[in-house]
Amino acid sequence: MSSDPCLGASCCQQESFAFGRNTYSRDSSPAIQEDPFSLDISSLSVNYDTDGGDESISSFPLQDDIRFVGKASRSSFKQNYGFKQIDLGCRLRSDITAEVDKLPPELEEELAGVETSLLSVPSKCAEQAEEFVKKVWAAGWNVAHHHTLPDWLKDNDFLLRGHRVPTNSFLACFKSIFRIHTETGNIWTHLLGMIAFLGIAAYFLSRPSIEIQWQEKAVFSAFFTGAILCLCFSWIFHTVYCHSERVGRFFNKLDYCGIALLTIGSFVPWLYYSFYCRLEPKVTYLALIFFLGTICIVVSMWDKFSQPQYRPLRAGVFVALGLSGVIPAMHYVITDGFWHAINFAALGWLLLMALLYIVGAVIYAARIPERIFPGKFDIWFQSHQIFHVFVLAAAFVHYHGISEIANYRLTLGDCIAREF
Ligand SMILES: [Zn+2]
Repeated sequence: MSSDPCLGASCCQQESFAFGRNTYSRDSSPAIQEDPFSLDISSLSVNYDTDGGDESISSFPLQDDIRFVGKASRSSFKQNYGFKQIDLGCRLRSDITAEVDKLPPELEEELAGVETSLLSVPSKCAEQAEEFVKKVWAAGWNVAHHHTLPDWLKDNDFLLRGHRVPTNSFLACFKSIFRIHTETGNIWTHLLGMIAFLGIAAYFLSRPSIEIQWQEKAVFSAFFTGAILCLCFSWIFHTVYCHSERVGRFFNKLDYCGIALLTIGSFVPWLYYSFYCRLEPKVTYLALIFFLGTICIVVSMWDKFSQPQYRPLRAGVFVALGLSGVIPAMHYVITDGFWHAINFAALGWLLLMALLYIVGAVIYAARIPERIFPGKFDIWFQSHQIFHVFVLAAAFVHYHGISEIANYRLTLGDCIAREF
């Protein structure tokens, strides 16, 4: 039994056909339809092999009756078409009706023109289909609606438009850094933050030892490492999140680990200088934060941890990790007094940092403001970006705080004479 119902149309009798510089080939056998001139090409691959460059085509619905799904690079890519009655040398049937975002009016016109001409001039249809694909690509990133995303990309129901679609290509993901979509702000807040901390760390660690001794450099390095890794994992996660479910999930876990690493790294210099001459509490609290941080990392590895319904749990776990600092802070206040802690242990800065983290986490968990105005913060000022900025601000505040404690400690001189 023939699996090809598209009688008489040459393209439909072949597994592949060439137009211009492209080769089109069918990946899957078409479904049998009642209408012999109707063919469901659910999968079509297009190979660009003319040069070494690369460009990608992603998946998105275009109009009520047209949907374009796929990933593409110039060297090889795969597309899934669900065209309704568009002639590619044979008639295609669409089984897909997708929810559609509004396209820019110019593109609507152009696409409408392409559709008509495809139907009316079958001999040129493939060239025009190629043109159509290019225009779709040029239309870019802002056409994917939340409803059209696969489940694993549906993280936040209050961001309606401007979502990237699965790319299956790291190159396409990294190129998207320079495009405007729901993750642009998330990527850049932490990418720029990482660059800033790399600069600060390079400056700090390159000071001559007469100015900053190696012990200080080692202790501060724990903080720099935590901050840089956290910000780095974060922007990379937001960049490759749309690659595929597997890649997105892996980098999501890495993103959570980064938060735990930043917290641990923040505690190290603080505990080191606050309990400078008190070995026992210093070691105990350092061991405690390493233990709790490790628990956080282990919990982050749990697959379900990244699911949207666990958002409050995630916020809670990391806030709890940060709040474990209350114990050594109370210890310090009891032994040295509140004002001493404020004046010499940067307690005020630490409280400000804690406040920033907590407010950031609450905004993150509550998804404000997009919860109140769904669709109004799709690109800028969504809760996750605000959370990112708070994390960054908290890290800078912490750096300032630990610098103050270190300065104070180092002016006191040797331990032996002062404390046990
Ligand atoms: Zn993030």
